[in-house]
Amino acid sequence: MDRQSKDALVGAIEAGGTKFVCAVGTSPHDIDRVEFPTGDNPDQVFSAVTDWLGKQQGARGMLQGIGIGSFGPVDLDPASPSYGCITSTPKSGWQNINILGAVKRMFPDIPVAFDTDVNAAALGEYRWGNGAGLQDFVYVTIGTGIGAGGMVGGKLLHGLVHPEMGHMRLARIPGDTFAGVCPAHGACWEGLCSGPALLARSGIPAELLPPEHESWLLETQYIAAAIANIVCVLSPRRVIIGGSVRKGGQLGQDRFFQMIREGVQTVLNGYIVSPALNEDIDSFIVPPLLGDDAGVCGAIALAQEKISQA
Ligand code: ZN
Repeated sequence: MDRQSKDALVGAIEAGGTKFVCAVGTSPHDIDRVEFPTGDNPDQVFSAVTDWLGKQQGARGMLQGIGIGSFGPVDLDPASPSYGCITSTPKSGWQNINILGAVKRMFPDIPVAFDTDVNAAALGEYRWGNGAGLQDFVYVTIGTGIGAGGMVGGKLLHGLVHPEMGHMRLARIPGDTFAGVCPAHGACWEGLCSGPALLARSGIPAELLPPEHESWLLETQYIAAAIANIVCVLSPRRVIIGGSVRKGGQLGQDRFFQMIREGVQTVLNGYIVSPALNEDIDSFIVPPLLGDDAGVCGAIALAQEKISQA
């Protein structure tokens, strides 16, 4: 990317299942940001977002592009009639909503980039965070839902649609009878381990769930199994875990990550020979350096990439 695009002042929208995070800036070091609840009325959110971006433009100067990282599933195929839409989401009010089109209508004269929220977050960590210098890594978010973005050979993985790693099936841990909360699959990874799943399983919000509660063990063991699967499929050089659940509630982030790292080693059972999965596992499975701003900063990076290609 050329220097001019790298420093471009852009708008960023991280469209999440719970909230929209918007920002204006050139990098994580100079962003102004705001949040709006996602709710069930897309038009209301779009108008709040575009009003705010318009005001920021008045204060900071003309935006040269906008990046959108969205919850999904989304249609990323420019040749498709539903390009730019959120498609089959169970989220009320958001089925078949054209998020890219809504933003383009408000800002018709500048490039608008569009990708999944997790691909955006992966790109943010690649530019400014724990993915810097790595051509192959995976960014996982565990929050309202579970999703993952893959950086493969220095490019975000898209493929047929986009990866849906959050909906992989996992082997049942013996004795666990929890049905799972995914409306499509029940006990897929998201159905077993998202924030709502943890709450449904234990009846207690993560922030209040005692560290010794068995739900934390099940939670981290299933996450470890899923990450072991990802390691087997994509051979990433690092796995970054973001999202609200990764803070580990009462358990604490350090313990949460430690249990996952040990779980991954147990599942892989020494089969994949690399220091990254053995003595260096503490730097193989890590939280995002950009913290909760990985997604919105990634949307800034998406916009700047789009400008450089224009
Ligand atoms: Zn599912």
